[in-house]
Amino acid sequence: MSQPAPNSAEARDVLFHLHSQTNSQAHAERGPLIMDRGEGIHVFDNQGKRYVEAMAGLWCTSLGFSEARLKRAAAEAYDRFGFYHTFNHKTPAATIDLAEKLCSLAPIPNAQAYFATSGSEATETMVKLAWIYHAVHGKPGKRKIISRDRGFHGSTIVAASMCGMPRMHREFGLPLPGFLHTLCPDPYRGTLPREGMDDFVARLAGSLEDMIRQEGADTIAAFIAEPINAGGGVIVPPEGYFAAVEAVLRRHNILVLADEVVCGFGRTGNMWGSQTVGMTPDMMALAKGISSSYFPISAVVLGKPVQDALAEMNKGGEIFGHGFTNSGHPVGVAVALEAIRIYEEMDVVPHVRAMGARLRSGLDAVAGKSRIVGQVRGAGLMFGVELVANPATRAAFDIGLKIGARFDAEALRNGLIIRPMGDTIAICPPLIIDEAGVDEIIELFRRTLSTVEQEVEANLLA
Ligand code: PMP
Repeated sequence: MSQPAPNSAEARDVLFHLHSQTNSQAHAERGPLIMDRGEGIHVFDNQGKRYVEAMAGLWCTSLGFSEARLKRAAAEAYDRFGFYHTFNHKTPAATIDLAEKLCSLAPIPNAQAYFATSGSEATETMVKLAWIYHAVHGKPGKRKIISRDRGFHGSTIVAASMCGMPRMHREFGLPLPGFLHTLCPDPYRGTLPREGMDDFVARLAGSLEDMIRQEGADTIAAFIAEPINAGGGVIVPPEGYFAAVEAVLRRHNILVLADEVVCGFGRTGNMWGSQTVGMTPDMMALAKGISSSYFPISAVVLGKPVQDALAEMNKGGEIFGHGFTNSGHPVGVAVALEAIRIYEEMDVVPHVRAMGARLRSGLDAVAGKSRIVGQVRGAGLMFGVELVANPATRAAFDIGLKIGARFDAEALRNGLIIRPMGDTIAICPPLIIDEAGVDEIIELFRRTLSTVEQEVEANLLA
């Protein structure tokens, strides 16, 4: 960006606004991209330039950027009251409806729902509930949490500790003690030479069990995983991974927590990511798609054993000493109820499968003609395209080339919003996308890839 005019929105942004997940130096130099409005799967910046939002914002606006029904649901809820809460036996009526709805949809029998406002709060709430569960069962020492390399679970201190990403830890002295990380089930990058998938799965489960034995099973409360890692590079675990891992966890009385913040509500081609990967969680965290992110609301769905532990703990008259001011906010629950109604009316699961299949075959076709695509992977409407220097050997690009960032910049120029995760390009469009939208993404992706590929080849030849 050229030097912004003083008092321009760009200059004021650099001066007054600290951005999430942004390099402050680079931001001061290039300034913000100011987004102005949305229409379906498209967004427009303040210069009027149109983009296909192929990331659904942050893997979240499943119903696109201008769903009038969600706006109306919020307005009607505001007509009743702007706020009510769930402390001390009180609740808005709509909050009961959403709790019942989530429990009827969730793959956890006899469930209850707890509400919060962000994915981070939901994942942290599951940690507290796991601690209660074990304490009530006479194992107060079972407190450690195992998550996975390249997992993402949020930005608050415990949630960030559970992330398996150096950038979430480095500056903060995290993870906190007691937050352990096991191997990422990445079939593309994680296998040993000539290792078959069954052996890979057995090695992952074995390494988890070694960690549990080394730490002592009596010190470990829970294991948390995204069914398909989103921010870590769209990693689809190999067949049988969760069955093998859960067998180990059950043996050692360790709870299984599913982070469905991205994967929930149809994203992976089933209502829940857990169903796509064969995971059977004791609790799950929901956010993002629950309201298509039109209102900050999240939830934990918890099974009967955890509810029973809470009941036991509260027998002496104590309360569940946990709660957010905006837990079960009446406007958030109204928006979420309407979002779920829309998912049901559009028959989201078959729609996602059909659009996902079309996107997948388009990306595969583009990849087939490219010399720098190592792998196209994903499920439903969530894909990662890993760019590599040599697809035959899977050799990565030199980090200094910043191929992912170059792809991102070129895509933006072409009016396509993707997310680079290292050299893997994530594509995770709104679930309402139709054939024309899918084809637009494929064409813009092809055009961007072709330019980046030409640049790479020119550089390599130079
Ligand atoms: N879990 C997953 C899988 C996520 O992708 C995210 C956010 N990207 C979170 C948790 C945290 O959600 P929030 O930013 O709403 O706290």
